[in-house]
Amino acid sequence: MSVAYAVRRLIVVAVLAFALLPRSAEAGAQTRARAATLATHAMTARWDGVPVLMYHRVDADVPHDAVGRDLTIEPAAFAAQLRYLRARHIAAITADELIARLGRGERPRNIVVLTFDDGYQDAATAALPLLREYGARGTFYVSSGFIGTPHHLTWHQMRALRDAGMEVACHGTFHLDLAKLDRAGQEREAAGCMKRFTRYLGAPAPTTYAYPAGKYDATTVSVMREIGMRAAFTEIPGDVAGLAHPFALPRLRVRHDDDLARFAELIAP
Ligand SMILES: [Zn+2]
Repeated sequence: MSVAYAVRRLIVVAVLAFALLPRSAEAGAQTRARAATLATHAMTARWDGVPVLMYHRVDADVPHDAVGRDLTIEPAAFAAQLRYLRARHIAAITADELIARLGRGERPRNIVVLTFDDGYQDAATAALPLLREYGARGTFYVSSGFIGTPHHLTWHQMRALRDAGMEVACHGTFHLDLAKLDRAGQEREAAGCMKRFTRYLGAPAPTTYAYPAGKYDATTVSVMREIGMRAAFTEIPGDVAGLAHPFALPRLRVRHDDDLARFAELIAP
């Protein structure tokens, strides 16, 4: 629910309460109490969507360069974030499950989606064991062309992720910026990823996509529809509050230096 809508509801409630104001003081107090309850309900019923968090690496070996460091979350910090979620009964579900629930018209609460881009090996060696330990699930966006190359996931690890209830989904074939490619190039990059996933992992085909560097254009949206994707994520910050634009969904970046207070702020409704 938007702030404007919540405010409008409050005004309606207040006007109604005034119009219905009875003559006796006691009944008046009751009506005012009722109006206050309705107003509180209008505020607590507010729904701003579901935070979809974007991670890259979960690794104790933090690179020295600024970009690499920013993209790497240490396992202890990641475990603390998972503990935070568990303590507050916030469930981590996969992106495809979120899309299915939104598609059914649900407005899920106490839900978060954890996504991991690029298919580094630590997805299987560091992120997966922690996710399992805390009963959380996540979505791994992997560039199919790098699977089995040094420091990246193998197809065996991809199967292990899927068998553990994780979603493995597409992040392009060679991690190319789709907005810089013509239609044929975009089709090769996107459909190529889907085909390899289906060939090596079997059905079902991936249903969600994360654009490398978050980049896309109007052609991308058309290509996504054509290859049968149901939703795609950008790096535009924000919560996912519906499927009006399923191929331009926002995500929230988790950074190396984010402490637990910052993490709490990121996922706060
Ligand atoms: Zn990437």
